[in-house]
Amino acid sequence: MNTNSTVDLHTHSYYSDGTYSPEEIVKEAFENKLSAVALTDHDCLKGLDEFNDAGKKYNVNTINGIELAAYYESPFIDKKKEIHIVGLFIDNKNVALNKKTDLILQQRIERNKKMVKRLTELGFPMTYEELKAIAKKGSCSRTHYAVLMVKKGYVKTKDEAFDKYFSAGMPGYVPRILPTPEECIQLIKNAKGVPILAHPTLYRIDIEKIELMAKDLRDKGIEGIEVMYSSYNSRQQYEITNIANKYNFAKSGGSDFHGLNKSGIYLAKGNGNLSVPDYFLDELKSRRNKNV
Ligand code: AMP
Ligand code: MN
Ligand code: MN
Ligand code: MN
Repeated sequence: MNTNSTVDLHTHSYYSDGTYSPEEIVKEAFENKLSAVALTDHDCLKGLDEFNDAGKKYNVNTINGIELAAYYESPFIDKKKEIHIVGLFIDNKNVALNKKTDLILQQRIERNKKMVKRLTELGFPMTYEELKAIAKKGSCSRTHYAVLMVKKGYVKTKDEAFDKYFSAGMPGYVPRILPTPEECIQLIKNAKGVPILAHPTLYRIDIEKIELMAKDLRDKGIEGIEVMYSSYNSRQQYEITNIANKYNFAKSGGSDFHGLNKSGIYLAKGNGNLSVPDYFLDELKSRRNKNV
């Protein structure tokens, strides 16, 4: 392996809320000379066959991934929090994981019907069909509502749609039914994957609480943590790396690329400075062997 090679272990295609096809992600990885790239669509395995086929075509190492959402509850946190757990190296044909993602998709459809009604009542008329047209192949998520709100001229930017209307607690927010972190960890390990705590700085808790959460989840079976991520500043990267070292996490990292749905975030490079070394992969892979 080339010692200067880099990888991107967190990306989304149009099967969830990105705008690129799985093949376009692989092409982008090839053009950026990545030695490996993972597709980690939200609660979704549908893009992985195409992704692996594209990997063969472009001779890029493609890694099967998923990003599962869970509610985290703990005495040191005032109310339950949505957190994300990335699973890498999963078997995308695993029956239990496929059943769960099918169920989550059904629950999303129910939620979407409620959310369309709620936003319409708030003065932003829209239909489920309009939303589906934006999501294309993907399951509709709040990202797609934000795109539709901009398109219809209800807000100027996607951020404004989140900030004013459907961030957690805002009037247009309809919560999803989510599994526990323990269930996500089990589903990922059962599918021969390695569970990783995604972007802990996004959970609106201070670094002391991030450490408590990470330690707790490590005790519950999480093997890795994202120590490199597009939005981290150098202090955050340093602090999360310290947590990884202290609690024996395998280190992971990625851009969280969403194509045009997250402007300013590029595959491989994140917001410009990201560079995830490929030796992270070896350690992550070795954790997999312990699970199998
Ligand atoms: P959902 O899974 O439908 O609850 O939607 C969550 C998605 O919305 C995430 O995957 C993010 O890509 C996106 N998202 C969440 N919060 C924000 C935010 N404040 N600004 C922009 N995008 C966000
Ligand atoms: Mn997303
Ligand atoms: Mn996430
Ligand atoms: Mn993500």
